[in-house]
Amino acid sequence: MASEAELAALHADLTAKQADVNRTGDEVRAMKGALKEKKVDKAEVDKVVAKLTALKLELKAAEDAYKAKAGVSKDSSEGRKKFREDVSNALERRLFYIPAFKIYGGIAGLYDYGPPGCAVKANILQFWRQHYVMEENMLEVECPCVTPEVVLKASGHVEKFTDLMVKDVKTSACYRADHLLKDAVEDLLEKNPTFAPDVVLEHKNVLARVDEFSADELGALLTKYKIVAPETKNELSKPYPFNLMFATSIGPTGTMQGFLRPETAQGIFVNFRDLLYYNGNKLPFAAAQIGQAFRNEIAPRQGLLRVREFTLAEIEHFVDPEDKSHPKFKHVKDLEFLLYPRAEQLGAEKKPVLTKIGDAVAQGIVNNETLGYFIARTYLFLTKLGIDKTRLRFRQHLASEMAHYAQDCWDAEIECSYGWIECVGLADRAAYDLKQHSEESKQPLIAFKRYDKPREVEHVVVAPDSKVLGKMLKKDNKVVKEALEAMSEEEALAMQAKLEKDGEAPLTICTTNQTFTITRDMVKIAKEKRTESGKNITPSVIEPSFGVGRIIYCLFEHSYYAREGDEQRTVFKFTPLVAPIKVTVFPLVSNAKLDEEGYQISQAMTASGVANKIDTTAISIGKRYARTDEIGVPFAITVDFETLQGGTVTLRERETTEQVRIGTKQVVGVVRSLADGVVAWSDVVAQYPKVEAKEEK
Ligand code: AMP
Repeated sequence: MASEAELAALHADLTAKQADVNRTGDEVRAMKGALKEKKVDKAEVDKVVAKLTALKLELKAAEDAYKAKAGVSKDSSEGRKKFREDVSNALERRLFYIPAFKIYGGIAGLYDYGPPGCAVKANILQFWRQHYVMEENMLEVECPCVTPEVVLKASGHVEKFTDLMVKDVKTSACYRADHLLKDAVEDLLEKNPTFAPDVVLEHKNVLARVDEFSADELGALLTKYKIVAPETKNELSKPYPFNLMFATSIGPTGTMQGFLRPETAQGIFVNFRDLLYYNGNKLPFAAAQIGQAFRNEIAPRQGLLRVREFTLAEIEHFVDPEDKSHPKFKHVKDLEFLLYPRAEQLGAEKKPVLTKIGDAVAQGIVNNETLGYFIARTYLFLTKLGIDKTRLRFRQHLASEMAHYAQDCWDAEIECSYGWIECVGLADRAAYDLKQHSEESKQPLIAFKRYDKPREVEHVVVAPDSKVLGKMLKKDNKVVKEALEAMSEEEALAMQAKLEKDGEAPLTICTTNQTFTITRDMVKIAKEKRTESGKNITPSVIEPSFGVGRIIYCLFEHSYYAREGDEQRTVFKFTPLVAPIKVTVFPLVSNAKLDEEGYQISQAMTASGVANKIDTTAISIGKRYARTDEIGVPFAITVDFETLQGGTVTLRERETTEQVRIGTKQVVGVVRSLADGVVAWSDVVAQYPKVEAKEEK
């Protein structure tokens, strides 16, 4: 595999040769012009043409040399593909996850988690509850997946939850238009390392905006890049929207339209009133939900990254729109990590910047403290799970990528062999969702904001005189009274001015379009001062939304490696928090007494809630260690003949492969503390005698 320095040297050589070719090409063109004007003779021109031909050959050789080396580098697309195949093989072999319905050929975008996969997922969700729900006293709910149409109409999903699709005009195979464009532009850049910087920038700008193009813009770009159907090379249709929701009907009559929910958030919004009441009518508060979401993806791909059914963990934090400060922001403001704001994405460098979240909020790059708080907490959540912080960035949505009502949106993106993947969306959605559901359901979804001290507020009071109205307008008096009371403050003041000036004013009933003449004795309109203790507001919502499967897959990639000098011995370096099994117990050799000791330790581990496994197979300890490394078990206990005599076992840690000898009575508590992250391995090594053991392969 080529080193980075070797590749950089080859690339520099390539760039220099390209510059020589460009310069000599210009020279040839100039000479040919001069030849036409008979300013030079042909022999001189032929000499420069020959030089250009020789330089082109050298350039081709440099290109081949670069490609040959880059082709096997781990950062090249080939290198990434090879790594991904290795990880996927390890994951499928050890049943972390497998294609669902495999014996029937499987269905694209549907996966089963096997035993270690289920355990990893359960551990991540448990930590999510601890890190968010418990830490912030969030109100957790669990709502149905089957959702009536009215809810998803109000939320806008029925009309707008679409992706742009293109079809192969001959076979009708379907593709996501933006994915085809992204793949084509990335491929073009990879295959042409000698593109001039301004050409590279032009293509990179297309990539930066790939999520935000309209159907027409995408159509034009597909034509510009000459993109055809990947398998058949047939022509493609124009892009058009495809709704991603799975439709169903509710009940036996088939008349009530429903959908499988595409996200869990709506269940929280429709429960807002009850949740607010449960919270003592106080803002801010957050509700949370973990559950399945369903999206009929056009072209599921990339394993767990784009599937048709997946687990979402969502938080809706309801906050006063006039005060989005966060009392705990001070605890995270000094955290520094990679932010990729809009300006950087559209600039020439296109690089995320290491930034303190406190500075980003103070400079207005991140819209408010609460959003900044959740971004920082998400950084902590992901890195504590084991995500590599150098391959984690928070990317801000471009203005045109955001919904019109959103104040600010950031995605936690994790880099894996497929590139940068959006794993968590963090959005300030303002009051949109509550207002939509309030309008559709006719139920007020509001909160009462109490002022620090009562305020004197001026109001316009409209007081119709029922007696006069009844006498003058007979049967129409009721509708006129209602219309007078429904006037806005501006309308009422305008009517009062007209009444004062002319003695009468017209009033039009908008539902019937009838106009009545209102006289001074029919209504009193006056400004009045009132003392108020607060006002009704529609809270803003800040929504962190976690794609659990995506986080899990990226974690698998970030955790996988082969032991140095032995490509066959692969390891998942899961943190104890994430590891599906925390400890394995090995009787050293096949022996009833050793087995019995082993079972007792295993039972004691289970009783104290430590996931463990006993392995009594007669294969060598080295092979058994390798087997546990392969599913990322962080600790192993070996029961040997010293155990029977002296009541001690060896305890091995996966990453260092160090071992200590420790009492059978202490080992359960120590492993538990290690698994809970209360003590570190270095503490254990400092306290117990080390065992010098060379691991056989
Ligand atoms: P969204 O509501 O589109 O912002 O999605 C919320 C989160 O769900 C994203 O950040 C992803 O992590 C995850 N997600 C969205 N679509 C899929 C999918 N098809 N498969 C797996 N995860 C997804």
